[in-house]
Amino acid sequence: MLPFERITIIGLGLIGSSVARAAKEHMPTVRITGHDADPGVRDRVRELGFCDDVSDSAGAAVVDADLVMLCVPVGAMAGIAAEISDDLPADAVVSDVGSSKQGLLEALLKALPGAKIIPAHPVAGTEHSGPDAGFATLFHDRWCILTPPEGADQGAIERVKAFWEQLGANVEIMDAKHHDLVLAVTSHLPHLIAYTIVGTASDLEDVTRSEVIKYSAGGFRDFTRIAASDPTMWRDVFLSNKDAVLEMLQRFSEDLTALQRAIRWDKGDELFELFSKTRAIRRRIIEEGQDDAAPDFGRSHD
Ligand code: NAP
Repeated sequence: MLPFERITIIGLGLIGSSVARAAKEHMPTVRITGHDADPGVRDRVRELGFCDDVSDSAGAAVVDADLVMLCVPVGAMAGIAAEISDDLPADAVVSDVGSSKQGLLEALLKALPGAKIIPAHPVAGTEHSGPDAGFATLFHDRWCILTPPEGADQGAIERVKAFWEQLGANVEIMDAKHHDLVLAVTSHLPHLIAYTIVGTASDLEDVTRSEVIKYSAGGFRDFTRIAASDPTMWRDVFLSNKDAVLEMLQRFSEDLTALQRAIRWDKGDELFELFSKTRAIRRRIIEEGQDDAAPDFGRSHD
C-alpha cells in the first residue's frame, strides 16, 4: 500500500527534484505537484516532466495534498510554511528535508499550529543545485533521519518512514537536538573546513592560483568538491545550527593545536597513532556501504 497518494514538493532544486524523480520511479501512481519560487525553475520542471503539475503559487500547490514536503533552503522554511498555512488540508502530513532540525522544527510548529509535522533529513546530496541536478537514485542505501516532535502522530511517523523506505533509504528516528550535534561533526564541520582551506589557498601570495589548480590531486581537489556546495544552503545551515557547530569547532581547534604541537616537537609516534586511527574510520565507512573503495572515492569527472 502507498503511504501517500498526492504529494506536493515545494522547492524543486537538487533534493526536491530527486524526491520527485524517485517517487515517480518507485510509486508511479502517486500524483506529484510541484512549486518553486523561481519562475525559471518552474518552467524548467515543466520541460523535464517529473511533476504531474507545477503550480505558480505555494497555496494552490498544497490544497489537496496528503504529504507536503518542503525542500527549500533552511532559512526559507518558516516563510513558506506561513504561506501555505491557510490552504493546508487538516489531515495532510508536513515534512521537510532541511539539513539542520531543532530550530526548524520550532519554526514549523509555530507557523503551522495543529499540523502533523514530521521533519526529515536525507543524508545524501551532491555539490550541485537546481532541478537538472537531481536524480532518482540519490537516496538509495543512504540514511534518512526523522526528527518528530514529542507527541507526534505515530501513524504519520510510520507513513513518512515508509515513504523514504520506498525511495530506497534506510530510516532512523532521532531527537532533533541530537541530530544537530551528530550532523555538526559529520557534515557541517567538514564543510566549514573545506570552505576555509579553499579560501586560504585562493588568498595565498607566494603560491600562484594556477599552481594550486595544477597540483590539486595532492588532496586539495577533494576539498574543492565540498567547498563548491550551494552558498545559500550552507549559509542557512551554519546560522541555524550555530550552537552545535561552534561546540564542534571549539573541539576541532583544540585537536588542531595538539597536532600543531606534535609536529613542532617532532612527535612522530603521536602523528602515526592518530593517522592509523583515522584510517580505520575510512575502512568502516566503506564496509558499511557509505562510500566505495574505488580511486578518488569512485567519483566520475565527466
Ligand atoms: P537547491 O538545489 O538550491 O534548491 C532549492 C530550491 O528552492 C531552489 O530552486 C530555490 O529557488 C527554491 N526556493 C528558495 N526559496 C523558496 C521559497 N520561499 N519558496 C519556494 N521555493 C524556494 O537546494 P537543495 O540542495 O535542493 O537544498 C534544499 C534543502 O535540502 C535545503 O534545506 C538543504 O538544507 C537540504 N539538503 C540538501 C542537501 C544537499 O546536499 N544539497 C542534502 C540534504 C538536505 P532559488 O534558486 O530561486 O532560490
